[in-house]
Amino acid sequence: MQTIDSPEHILQTIFGYDSFRHNQQEIIGHILDGNDALVLMPTGGGKSLCYQVPALCLPGVTIVVSPLIALMKDQVDALLMSGVKAAFLNSSQTSGEQAALSEQLKNNELKLLYVAPERLVGQDKQFLTFLQTLEVSLFAIDEAHCISQWGHDFRPEYRVLSELKQYFPSTPIIALTATADAQTKDDILAQLHFKAHRVFENSFNRPNIYYSIQPKKGYYDALLDYLDAHTGDAGIIYCLSRAATEKLAADLVEDGYSAAAYHAGLEKNLRDERQDLFLKDDIKIMVATIAFGMGINKSNVRFVVHADLPKNIEGYYQETGRAGRDGLPSDAILFYGAGDVMKLKSFAQVPDNEEQTNILLQKLEKMVQLCETKRCRRKYLLNYFGETAPDYCGSCDVCLTEKTVEDATLIAQKFLSTVARLNERFGANYVIDVIRGSQAEKIRAEHKTLTVFGIGKDLPREDWQHYAKELLLENYLQHSTGEYPVLLLTDKSKDVLFKSAKVYLQAPKPVVLTKEPVVYQQHAFEKSLFEALKKLRNQIAHEENVPAYLIFSDSTLLDLATYLPTSNHSLLSISGFGAFKAEKYGTAFLEMVQDYCNANELSSRMELKQPKRERKPKITKERESDTKKTTYDLYLQGNSISEIASIRNLSPNTIESHLGFYIGTGVLSLNDFVLSNHQALIVAAEKKHGRLSLKLLKENLPDSISYGAIRMVLASMPIH
Ligand code: ADP
Ligand code: ZN
Repeated sequence: MQTIDSPEHILQTIFGYDSFRHNQQEIIGHILDGNDALVLMPTGGGKSLCYQVPALCLPGVTIVVSPLIALMKDQVDALLMSGVKAAFLNSSQTSGEQAALSEQLKNNELKLLYVAPERLVGQDKQFLTFLQTLEVSLFAIDEAHCISQWGHDFRPEYRVLSELKQYFPSTPIIALTATADAQTKDDILAQLHFKAHRVFENSFNRPNIYYSIQPKKGYYDALLDYLDAHTGDAGIIYCLSRAATEKLAADLVEDGYSAAAYHAGLEKNLRDERQDLFLKDDIKIMVATIAFGMGINKSNVRFVVHADLPKNIEGYYQETGRAGRDGLPSDAILFYGAGDVMKLKSFAQVPDNEEQTNILLQKLEKMVQLCETKRCRRKYLLNYFGETAPDYCGSCDVCLTEKTVEDATLIAQKFLSTVARLNERFGANYVIDVIRGSQAEKIRAEHKTLTVFGIGKDLPREDWQHYAKELLLENYLQHSTGEYPVLLLTDKSKDVLFKSAKVYLQAPKPVVLTKEPVVYQQHAFEKSLFEALKKLRNQIAHEENVPAYLIFSDSTLLDLATYLPTSNHSLLSISGFGAFKAEKYGTAFLEMVQDYCNANELSSRMELKQPKRERKPKITKERESDTKKTTYDLYLQGNSISEIASIRNLSPNTIESHLGFYIGTGVLSLNDFVLSNHQALIVAAEKKHGRLSLKLLKENLPDSISYGAIRMVLASMPIH
């Protein structure tokens, strides 16, 4: 198709990103060739760019169908902030506003228009016929699984989209979703009457999310410990009932945390207000039912806690997926207790519909298995969604738990002999009651006189439950089939009872290792600067009345606090700074970085930033070397560093770094700038203290060695 700009150029100048992620580039290329595409990508994977970039490459308007008004507004706001002409059309607008939009459309002034499906096709196809008079370049269908009744979120109003191809036979359609099984996928393709299409699937893995499942007993203390270790972070805590959200939020507020409850039973105004406060980081913790989160784009949600068990893996994955959309490390923590399973089992009963009940129970069972598994949680999740995964992910509680195996021969003998004495006719709970000498009525009188009665009083019930599971897992026991499964002995257990075979089992209380830091930043960042930058972002967000993350994501601020750009030009290499945002906010953020650098005698670390990948446009490279070249030429003409600085209106630091570049490449000789004995001292100091703090180096060197000399020597040394 005819294009007006290249995807790479749009990505860098408008969105401020270095390179495409996953298969974005392939998808965009396929669309720009005029084809249809179905894109499956996990939340936070970067679906939006798959249609926003083509929208800006193509000459006409792109129509985006989205089910949620909140989401539309958010997306449009985000685009406007990057200088892209976008708008949405919905029923809340006045006829005047709608007329103005039509006018803009007629004049081809909009690049993206967001609409609800019923708005697009409803009203006697009026709107569709109007669109036919315009240049529509692309249709994007967000949350495309809503079109299928096999999906978990079927919306009948999406069905009308199956008529799109009749009206626009040659306009490409891109359908996007974060969840779709095989059946749903086929249904989407059929419903939309896709032509030369491709399906783009990505791994559903969310590498930046750490999964942890902990016992529910006494969870409040564990929760507070977690929150205390993560002050300032935003997160969502999911509860099963409305009442539970209110109670937990009230408790948290009383204990001094910034929290609020959110559920569908609250007045709309109150809900909107709380959501808004959360989006603006004014409320840090939202305690919510699952009514909260659909259509929330907040990218800096650092944790999602499930205080109650979710009903199924799909829900769990969707909810935990709201953490870490910006790609920074985030936590998903679930507090799991057997009581919840009972409760959910009763909720799963659909009156007069055994089939549906069974489906719901099976899904619940899978959820329980995730909680009980002794293997990698991530692997379990990915396998559930039909993906393969390695046994060890290194970022879930199971992988990070040291498994302590102990000699449990005596314990096994006690348990197995009790099973034998009960003639293999009872389940684990009864066996444990007998072992622990329970006086409950349900324990038959004749069992209270057995020699094994009470032989395991010394251990708490939970430990015995743990050992029962271990014995099952290691095949010392097995379950009988049938409605009321009982514990049976195996050949292996007979060896224990009659041949004194040794038994080794996992200890009940495993040692949880400290979480390994996920390597998301190669270099250390300035924490206090990062916090200050967040404050600046929030202040701007308040002035402009938009959510903070729409200004810049946490990862952009982290980049700033890591690489310390001190010129407008280097700002453009920071992920998330497109030309428009750099122009609008650049000065404020640059000043803050510069002040910080001055106060702490730090210099820019842009040279540590990984070179952009092959997609980097040549112009940037040339420009960068241009400015260095100018400095170099002035130096060759005999000007000193401070003279060049004043001629070029740049700081001496910058000039030194330019010249440092030529020293690094061997064009200039370090000996012309720094005495050789000073060079040796600086090299030695760098070996000892590293190069991240110039101040530290300076303090450990004789006063006669200047910052400039240190910089020059560093520039001449390879980074190791
Ligand atoms: P999804 O819709 O798939 O959940 P988004 O489109 O909201 O995900 O993208 C998640 C985040 O990742 C956004 O902040 C987005 O700007 C960012 N992002 C997307 N593509 C890239 C990229 N190529 N480089 C850097 N950041 C990106
Ligand atoms: Zn794991």
